[in-house]
Amino acid sequence: MSLSVAVIGAGVAGLTTAWELLNDGHRVELFDTNSGIAEGASFASSGCVAPAALAAWDWTGHGLAPGGGGMLPPPWARNLAGMAWLRQRKRQLATEHLNAVFDGAHALGQLTEERITASMKQLHHEVESAQGVLLLLNSDEVRKGIRPGLDHLKRAEVRLFEMDAGSARTAEPALNADVPLAGAIALPTDFVLNGRQWLALLKTEIVRMGGLVHLRSQVSQLTSEGRFQATTTGSQQAQAHQFDAVVVCAGHDAARLLKPLGMAWPLMVLNHCSVSAPVRDPLNAPNGAVIDAQQRVTITRMGQRMRASAGEPLIPGSNAQAVFRRLYQVMETWFPGASQLHGAHALVQTWQASCAHTPDGLPLVGRTSHPRIWLNTAHGSRGWTLGPGSSRLLADLITRRPTSGPVERCSPQRFGRTT
Ligand SMILES: Cc1cc2nc3c(=O)[nH]c(=O)nc-3n(C[C@H](O)[C@H](O)[C@H](O)COP(=O)(O)OP(=O)(O)OC[C@H]3O[C@@H](n4cnc5c(N)ncnc54)[C@H](O)[C@@H]3O)c2cc1C
Repeated sequence: MSLSVAVIGAGVAGLTTAWELLNDGHRVELFDTNSGIAEGASFASSGCVAPAALAAWDWTGHGLAPGGGGMLPPPWARNLAGMAWLRQRKRQLATEHLNAVFDGAHALGQLTEERITASMKQLHHEVESAQGVLLLLNSDEVRKGIRPGLDHLKRAEVRLFEMDAGSARTAEPALNADVPLAGAIALPTDFVLNGRQWLALLKTEIVRMGGLVHLRSQVSQLTSEGRFQATTTGSQQAQAHQFDAVVVCAGHDAARLLKPLGMAWPLMVLNHCSVSAPVRDPLNAPNGAVIDAQQRVTITRMGQRMRASAGEPLIPGSNAQAVFRRLYQVMETWFPGASQLHGAHALVQTWQASCAHTPDGLPLVGRTSHPRIWLNTAHGSRGWTLGPGSSRLLADLITRRPTSGPVERCSPQRFGRTT
């Protein structure tokens, strides 16, 4: 049965949801407040589609874990709400649940890879990308720290190669020879994508397939019957809409939209930062993506642009200068001379955006307690890795098709009562 579906939010989650639903034969309208697509968290991210790399991080003592393994909680959690959220995270990721959570994330990541490949065939266009991610192990201690993550990957039979420092330097010849390196893990199935280029093509495809894209359209007053108001920037008058189904893909703003409906989830909104700079000398720049395992910094190269992003999050509104400085420093340390980061000729872009994190690190995907309201949101700092897969999962649920996605693991109902 063909349904009329509104998708709220034109980031990676919303655009891929709209595309999947159109492929299933539904009538789709997409709404976003911004004047362009992918101007929220999907703007200047690293675009790493990295189900393997994420496993080594997010669920095994690194990533958002308290203090990265230290005694003190990280700065963003040094308040009552933060401590309560961390306690919930600890419960969700207790040893007895960890394999199941990891398997859910891995299944979504694999679905993402499948759907990106399928979209490329449909789009008939090349999108800039670089295959493989190299996890740089600065010391033997760092190697020990990522061991639990590697064990998860091996259990799931993910392809990886443990390398010595020499082989790592051969794989990435521009790595600074003066920086100590104990070895690396090559993750050949992970890749980096020029995400905004891909989403721009997907938007064109959505329109070609009959989808309507309403930009500069702020959605408010969502009701459980699938009604809402959309106000175009500059206009005083709101337009009323009603759909068979409404999918909220509004990133960290989803909570605000859903609160009047009495819905709330245990979400932690944190800012993530990146710096981007043009490549000055390609010979000194990385071939693809590397992750400094100690600093938790990802460095990617897309054509003539290098970007570093930080694993360490910040409380929204806090000063990010120290994080930006660290990102410059890590880029310069590993790839000196690759880009001009300082001085009058530097063309550096610094950026930060808010992402909503669930305690178990998996997104909220599926129907809410209101039958017409669906969610595909809260991908944390893994929206490129998990988002396209979760959009397929959501479309399968709306279309009532069998799915290979982790339905229960991502269900919005999994945290108990939401009202
Ligand atoms: C620095 C950085 C680096 C990252 N690197 C990676 C990476 O390498 N790999 C990875 O997997 N992930 C990465 N991420 C995470 C990833 O970018 C996000 O998880 C993802 O972009 C979230 O996508 P989204 O569509 O859910 O949200 P968004 O991109 O934020 O889109 C939500 C959209 O909803 C719109 N909206 C909100 N409320 C309303 C409303 N009421 N009415 C209309 N529109 C509304 C907003 O305008 C926005 O455009 C990174 C994030 C950051 C910040």
